[in-house]
Amino acid sequence: MKVLVLNCGSSSLKYQLIEMQGETVLAKGLVEKIGEGISILKYELQTGKELAIEEKIADHSQAIEMVLEILQDKSHGVIKNMDEINVVGHRVVHGGEKFSGSVLINNEVCKALEENIKLAPLHNPANLIGIKVSQRLMPDTPDVGVFDTAFHQSMSEESFLYAVPYAWYQENGVRRYGFHGTSHKYVSEKAAELINRDYNQLRIISCHLGNGASIAAINQGQVIDTSMGFTPLEGVAMGTRSGDLDPGIIPYIMKERNLTIEDIDSILNKESGVLGISSISNDFRDLSEAAKSGNKRAELALEIFCRRVKKYIGSYAALMGGIDVIIFTAGIGENAINVREKILSNMDYFGIELSSEKNNLRGQEAEISAANSRVKVYVIPTNEELVIAREAKKIIKNKIRKVIEDVLNS
Ligand code: ADP
Repeated sequence: MKVLVLNCGSSSLKYQLIEMQGETVLAKGLVEKIGEGISILKYELQTGKELAIEEKIADHSQAIEMVLEILQDKSHGVIKNMDEINVVGHRVVHGGEKFSGSVLINNEVCKALEENIKLAPLHNPANLIGIKVSQRLMPDTPDVGVFDTAFHQSMSEESFLYAVPYAWYQENGVRRYGFHGTSHKYVSEKAAELINRDYNQLRIISCHLGNGASIAAINQGQVIDTSMGFTPLEGVAMGTRSGDLDPGIIPYIMKERNLTIEDIDSILNKESGVLGISSISNDFRDLSEAAKSGNKRAELALEIFCRRVKKYIGSYAALMGGIDVIIFTAGIGENAINVREKILSNMDYFGIELSSEKNNLRGQEAEISAANSRVKVYVIPTNEELVIAREAKKIIKNKIRKVIEDVLNS
């Protein structure tokens, strides 16, 4: 079975074509700057051969068409025709409360996704465009939606409710949803496999530290808490997002600096986090360089980021009554050696001890805890596309099984 995974962002499209037998990536790539002056389509084959096409790509429809064309190209393609694609798996950021698992897309699902746009105005519209274009270009191929929020739907009310009037939840959907669910699911399951223990017996803290960052507490296979909330703005400080802050700051600073709702929303999402503190960059490579050469604000930004992650780890240990495994993943988690070290410093009273020798690695799957550390610490590169492909395959297999059962019972 071949699954095409599509992840549509507001001006980008990430794609992978995966052969599920052996879970081999046949081709993958990225289209950037869709709708801008010059767009770039990057295409990489299993052999490592890479291509880049630079031209104007007006919209997601054209981008997906170009991806399908290159996948079938006589010299660089990996399939003869589109019929070889058995299912398309779409990343969808917000599933609201309706979707606690992946779904086969139909008109009813599309309607529910449209209703969720107000919950994720930056992400869901692009995800929906991807679905609609795929339905139009490949009308006979099923589409499956895989939600960033779904894995977190196991949280209980005491975890997902804010202490605000209950009507805000009942009438306006204000609650914590959590994000990066596909990533937390992949790395936590992988960790259980690596330490060869039953997933449903473990207390895991998964730290997805990328430009957007979230921490999840996974107790006996179920998310019991996660740091992102109603939107991906809550939680740890991030590249450009503030993370947790006193809500009283918002009306105060809006009055003081004469800001509109749009201004404050944009500042908290795009000009805050480590960029806001350092005034240098949202990129941890730049910050580490600047801190090394004595820039105090860059150093401070790194300290604040690490302290926030440490606080979440401590609070999740308290909620789960201990920790068996801590995982670092995504751009920072996989690559920033100094950040991992800072986050887990002085936590030996928790049974957490890092091996500085083993921690000296980037982008590889490995255990990085010291031999005597009671809590195992791992770096596990995330693979959201593979989770989406596996989910799409599972949904299609269930559907086929159901059709066969219905025929046999009729
Ligand atoms: P997202 O998917 O949320 O955009 P990523 O998971 O790709 O983010 O992470 C991107 C971030 O990872 C970069 O902004 C940078 O801060 C960090 N990063 C990437 N490579 C390195 C590295 N070698 N050292 C330190 N940080 C890195």
